[in-house]
Amino acid sequence: MMQKQLADTSTDDLDESAEEATFQDIDMLQDQGINAADLKKLKTAGICTIKGVQMHTKKALCNIKGISEAKVEKIKEAAAKMAVDSGFVSALNFSMKRKQCFRISCGCADLDKLLGGGVESMAITEVFGEFRTGKTQLSHTLCVTTQMPGAMGYTGGKVVYIDTENTFRPDRLRPIADRFNLDQSAVLDNVLYARAYTSEHQMELLDHVASKFHEEAGIFKLLIVDSIMALFRVDFSGRGELADRQQKLAQMLSRLQKISEEYNVAVFVTNQMTADPGAAMSFQADPKKPIGGHILAHASTTRISLRKGRGENRVAKIYDSPDMPESEATFSITNGGIADAKE
Ligand code: ATP
Ligand code: MG
Repeated sequence: MMQKQLADTSTDDLDESAEEATFQDIDMLQDQGINAADLKKLKTAGICTIKGVQMHTKKALCNIKGISEAKVEKIKEAAAKMAVDSGFVSALNFSMKRKQCFRISCGCADLDKLLGGGVESMAITEVFGEFRTGKTQLSHTLCVTTQMPGAMGYTGGKVVYIDTENTFRPDRLRPIADRFNLDQSAVLDNVLYARAYTSEHQMELLDHVASKFHEEAGIFKLLIVDSIMALFRVDFSGRGELADRQQKLAQMLSRLQKISEEYNVAVFVTNQMTADPGAAMSFQADPKKPIGGHILAHASTTRISLRKGRGENRVAKIYDSPDMPESEATFSITNGGIADAKE
């Protein structure tokens, strides 16, 4: 009897409930007696789904203007009642949810292989390297490849690009679109761009991103931040402000992680490197390391280091991944974007 019931749980049902869980609109909480005005306040703060409510602490919700502690209690209670996937799920169920996960091609077969198929959704992928190693070029290439259908039923979608260094060039997307036989204007139209001026502004933009992802549910597939640390480096200086910086950084990364899971998008961030002043004395093999410390190291699901190779070639190496071996791939930077390595 038990066995039959288990066998009856069809894959389709699981798929559907997993989909539902991703996009349970916060307006559903009206059925639980939460008024529309309060829900609007949550949306303004970038919390648009029931999962979004669950992903924020009571303390964080209390900080939203016009939301009292009593209201927070009610909202949390209502969300817990309505949530499709709160608490424990079976590993089978979880694997179905993971099946929604997709990969975005980088434009180079070896690099895709290194990444296990491409840049993964519901996760943060970080590339770091010295200047001119291709971090921004890779970001531009992904703006285009994200829009193309890919492996395992991936249908393609729109991109959000947060630029902290003023190095995004829309015209750079044109030859990349040509290479993949896509219409240039259509490609540019599908990339939503914002320039961030301070680390606080960068955080605020994430609220808009969440609203946008919610508004056009399932349409956006990639969020790029090029680069994640640049503004933090400027806004916080010296040892004295380091703790503060890391705390703000942790909040931002936690927000990015949640957005990636809540809306099933890939998050791609670039990072800079610094010469480690202690390295020369400690005989470290690799004296250059990414900035951001342990906070960033732990937040990134996959970390890739880039270094210069011969000519236009660049070498990518996996640093940190829960399910990928440490290995290398070589790619080249071309006018058509990131491509297979040149000999
Ligand atoms: P930074 O740390 O300064 O931001 P980065 O890692 O983002 O550096 P990119 O700007 O992505 O570096 O890469 C610069 C490299 O890309 C340069 O070597 C440049 O020659 C190459 N490049 C830029 N545009 C083109 C193009 N249209 N065709 C071929 N190569 C290009
Ligand atoms: Mg750059």
